[in-house]
Amino acid sequence: MSEQNTGKISAAVHKTGLLRHFIKILMFVDLPIRQKFLLFALSTFFWFCTISAVAIIFFSTIHYQYYQISEYISPYRQAIDSVIIKLETLNRNIPPKNESVNIGGSADFPVFRKQLDAIRLTLTELSLRQTKMQSDRTIVELILQNMAKPNPEWLVYMQGMSALIDQIEKSLGGGSHKLQKSEPSPKGSSEPQNAALSDVHTQIAGAIALSNRYLEQLSSGYTALNSQIYSNIKSPVHTIIGLLITATILLVLFTYWIIVAFYTPIKTIINQIESLSTGDFDIAKKVSIDSMDEIGELSHNFNSLTESLYSMTIFKKVIEEDTSLADVYRRLGRVFSDKFGIEQYMIYEVNTSLKAMSAAYPPLIGGMKLHCHDDILTDCTLCRAVKTGHNISSFRFESICRYFNSEDGVGHYCVPMMLGGHTGGVVQFRFAITRDDSSLSTEDASRLYKAETYIDQSLSVLEAKRLMKTLQDSALIDPMTGLYNRRFLQEHTQQIISAVLRRSKQVGLLVCDIDYFKQVNDTHGHDVGDQMLKETSTILKNAVRETDLVIRFGGEEFLVLLLDIEPGGAMDVAEKIRRKMESFKLRTGDTILQKTISIGISEFPADTDGFWQAIKYADVALYQAKETGRNRVVRFLPEMWKQDGF
Ligand code: GH3
Ligand code: MG
Ligand code: MG
Repeated sequence: MSEQNTGKISAAVHKTGLLRHFIKILMFVDLPIRQKFLLFALSTFFWFCTISAVAIIFFSTIHYQYYQISEYISPYRQAIDSVIIKLETLNRNIPPKNESVNIGGSADFPVFRKQLDAIRLTLTELSLRQTKMQSDRTIVELILQNMAKPNPEWLVYMQGMSALIDQIEKSLGGGSHKLQKSEPSPKGSSEPQNAALSDVHTQIAGAIALSNRYLEQLSSGYTALNSQIYSNIKSPVHTIIGLLITATILLVLFTYWIIVAFYTPIKTIINQIESLSTGDFDIAKKVSIDSMDEIGELSHNFNSLTESLYSMTIFKKVIEEDTSLADVYRRLGRVFSDKFGIEQYMIYEVNTSLKAMSAAYPPLIGGMKLHCHDDILTDCTLCRAVKTGHNISSFRFESICRYFNSEDGVGHYCVPMMLGGHTGGVVQFRFAITRDDSSLSTEDASRLYKAETYIDQSLSVLEAKRLMKTLQDSALIDPMTGLYNRRFLQEHTQQIISAVLRRSKQVGLLVCDIDYFKQVNDTHGHDVGDQMLKETSTILKNAVRETDLVIRFGGEEFLVLLLDIEPGGAMDVAEKIRRKMESFKLRTGDTILQKTISIGISEFPADTDGFWQAIKYADVALYQAKETGRNRVVRFLPEMWKQDGF
């Protein structure tokens, strides 16, 4: 891939990362659940308030507009209605046209004039109101501008009415009066003619008709205003509908987001738990929630839980397949150091029958020393964890174990490994003391907890392997002395021979037999005899190297195989054994028992190619040693071999 391409890809990845981050911020993914719900409630409340406020403002405006319009129009209606009534009254009061009446001389004339004046006054007041309305522009007038302009219908009506009333007055008694002035005409200035009565009725009918027409115009104007208001309502209604749709879309989005943010990860975790319980768990199927809220935390914890369960299962499978106990200890130790970062630890193995314990892992190299007193190795009951079977922590009780070599600033936490009802081993963890109260730090406590879980998991495997080893050992080891037995030699001969031949080295064979051993039994009893055999075993083991093999060959007869020995080297070792045996004193009650040992030596393959033949040669040499006075070391010589003699 070219460098340019790599650059492009990394830029794309970077962009995707930024976009994801942006969406996370936008969706409040990382907010804690409580705050998310609070936000949800607040936004719902916000939308509720917004829509309510808009609706209240809108409907009260509409209501106000209708109110103002009716307030504006109704005085006109009422006034015109009263004008019509007055005109009708006047019409009724004035005698019909065929009656011969002198109205001017009639007593009713002033009444008629008063009625006409009242009509004039009503109309003048309306005129004044019209003028006032033009200067005092109300909201409605601003909305419905046609109301603000000088009203042509009104002007027409007023002019018509003015003319008609003047004519009526004239017909009734002459004298020209402007409606606006409303001045009474001089009494009896001229006599109305009967002929004029007909005109009066016609003129009044005309005025009534004009007023009715104007009323109709008012009604149709009112309807027009209403429809205008209706058309003005449309845009606020659209706004409210728009708000409702937006709020609904947001609610749907929020609901979807809640499903994505809560339901999906929880469902995934439930599915994983189900598959865990049914056994078909797939470690690859991790819960991939990377939000920083509680859900993210839950999925993170769940992932680490399944991961540790998985690695624990794998660990158990692997140690089950391990062939030796040493492999299991090594693997357990690697988990402590590599997985949990615990650098200081020691796994001890306890030998219950010998009441001893030994350091099993890590190996003590380069003069490394144990952090416990050496005495616990020979007497495991001195170890508090072995003795009690409980966890022993110096972080809980300082100086709890006398046999821990206290160092400045280091504490111990010892975990017994309970195998088959007794302590089969102890894992000692050591941590630096970092706190004033000498307690364990939280991180170390957490590591320790995990390490203990692994120890728990390995116990069953350790127990099975220990049992297996014990069974094998019991068949190959002499229970009284702890030395290998003749069967061990038979099973491992081939292995020993081929290794020696491969290295082109020699094996020195020492056949050792305690002199007059029968006497010990006879004189001091079998128990003392057994004691003597055990002590002899120890002398033999201590006289040879770790890699050499000491075998209990028969009753009080031992075979020592000195591996990779230099020619002639066997003689020195045998002599050392003889001397140690000679000087050893066994105290039994009041008496001190001393025994000697006779040793016959041969070398393989120097003396013979046959391994068992070499043993026979050493036996011949031993016979020679017994024959020549006991407490002796005799090297086999070919002339000693007299086939017939054996
Ligand atoms: P020498 O070898 O010097 O010829 O004399 P010895 O008395 O040692 O010879 P022998 O082989 O006759 O005696 C061996 C005795 O060892 C016989 C037996 O009672 C005793 N012995 C063998 N196995 C045991 C054992 O496990 N415990 C005890 N206490 N005695 C044993
Ligand atoms: Mg003997
Ligand atoms: Mg013997």
